[in-house]
Amino acid sequence: MTTGPLRYLDSIQPQPLKNLSSYLSALVEGRLWLKVVIGLVLGLLVGFALGPTAGLVEVDTGALVGNWLAFPGMLFLAAVQMIVIPLVFASIILGLASSENVDQLRQMGLTVVSFFVVTTAAAASVGLWVAALMKPGQGFTSDLLQQADVSDAPPPLSPPGLEEIPETLIRLLPGNPLGAMVEGQMLQVVIFAIIVGIALVTLTPAQSKPLLELLTSLQQVCMTVVRWAMVLAPFAVFGLMARLTSQIGVDALVGMAFYVVTVITGLIALLILYLVLVWFIAGQSPMSFLRATRELMLLAFSTSSSAAVMPLSIKTAEERLGVRSSIAQFVIPLGATINMNGTALYQGVAASFLAQVYGIEISISGLALIVAMAVGASIGSPGTPGVGIVILAMVLNSVGIPAEGVALLLGVDRILDMSRTAINVAGDLVASKLMSHWMGDDETPEEATG
Ligand code: ASP
Repeated sequence: MTTGPLRYLDSIQPQPLKNLSSYLSALVEGRLWLKVVIGLVLGLLVGFALGPTAGLVEVDTGALVGNWLAFPGMLFLAAVQMIVIPLVFASIILGLASSENVDQLRQMGLTVVSFFVVTTAAAASVGLWVAALMKPGQGFTSDLLQQADVSDAPPPLSPPGLEEIPETLIRLLPGNPLGAMVEGQMLQVVIFAIIVGIALVTLTPAQSKPLLELLTSLQQVCMTVVRWAMVLAPFAVFGLMARLTSQIGVDALVGMAFYVVTVITGLIALLILYLVLVWFIAGQSPMSFLRATRELMLLAFSTSSSAAVMPLSIKTAEERLGVRSSIAQFVIPLGATINMNGTALYQGVAASFLAQVYGIEISISGLALIVAMAVGASIGSPGTPGVGIVILAMVLNSVGIPAEGVALLLGVDRILDMSRTAINVAGDLVASKLMSHWMGDDETPEEATG
C-alpha cells in the first residue's frame, strides 16, 4: 500500500486514468460489436504500420507478422466452417419439419425463393443504374488495361448453353449426398436437406421423432461451437484486418478510388432499400435493425464469406431480430447459399465500369442479360471470398465485354468483396425478418433495441 506523499499522489493523479480505464472497460464489457469495431480499427492501424506504404518494416517481415496476427482469425473461420455443413443440414430439416403441412411449406418456399430472385434482380439493376449515373469508367482509357496484370484474372467461364441446362439442373440433385457433404457442395446439400425436410413433414410423429431428436442435438452442438468461436471474434477481426492492410499498399486503391466509391454507394443504396423494407413491412426501425445486426455485419465484412458467418446469422436472426427459429433455420442457410444481393449489385457496377472503359455501349437486351446472369450466377455460387469476381468473368463473357478487364479490378477486389459480403448477409437477415412477419409470428426482442 502507498503511504505518505505517494498516497496523496495516488489520489490525485492516477484517478482520472483509473476512471478512464474502468469507464472504457464498462463500455466494452458485453458489447461485442464495440470490441469488434476496436479490433477492426486497431487491425487497420497495425496493418498499415506493417505494410509497404508506411515502410517501417521490411516487406517480408511485415508479411510474416501479418500472417501470425491473422492466426486467431483463421482459427475463428476454421472453427465456424467446421460445423457449417452439419448445421446447414440439421437447420434446414428442422426448420421445414416444424411446418404443419406440405401446403404451408410450399407457400413459405415459394415466397422466400421469389423474394430472393426479385431482390437479386433489383440489386443488379441498382448497380447498373448507379454506374450509369456516376460513370466511374469515364476518363479511363483502354491503355490502362494494358498495364494491368492479366495473369491473376480468373479464366472466363461460359454460362451453360440451352442444350446443357437440363443436365445442369439434374446435377443439382446430389447423386451421393454424403459425397456432396464431403466436397462441401453447399447448394446440393441444401437441396438434399430440403427434400428430407419435406419428406419428414409427411411422416407420422412417431416415425419422424428419432431423426428430429438426433438433428436437434446436432444443431445444439454446432451452435455451442459457434458460441465458443464468438469469443475470438474481436481478435479474429483485428488479425484479418492487420494482415489485409499489411499486404496491400494504399496506391492500389488510389487509381481506382472512384470505382470503389461507386460500388460502395450502390451497396449503401441497397442497404437503405432494405432498411426501408423492414421498416415499412415489419415495423422495425432502421436504427434498431442496424443495432441488432452490427456485429454480424462487421464479421461478414472482415471474413468476406457469408457462408462462414451463416451460423452467426441464424443466431442473430433468432436472438436479436425475433425471427421464429423454424423460419431463421430455413431462410438463412438457404439465403447464404443462393441469395447474394451485394454480389449481384457488384456485377452491375463492374460490368458497366468495364463497358465504359472499353467504350462499349450495352444495349437494353445486354442490360437485361447482365441482370439475368447476375441472378443465375449468384444462386449457383457459394458465399465464399472472391466468388463475385469469378461470376463477373462469366457475366462479361455473355455480353461481349473482354473478360481480361477483370485484371484491372483485382487490386481493389478485396475491399469490395468485404463490403458486398456484409450486404449479402444483411439481405439474408432482411429476408428472414420479412418472412417471419409474413408468416405472422415475428417480434422485436428487447435486446434488439438496446
Ligand atoms: N464473398 C462473398 C460472399 O461470401 C461473395 C462474393 O465474392 O461476392 O458472400
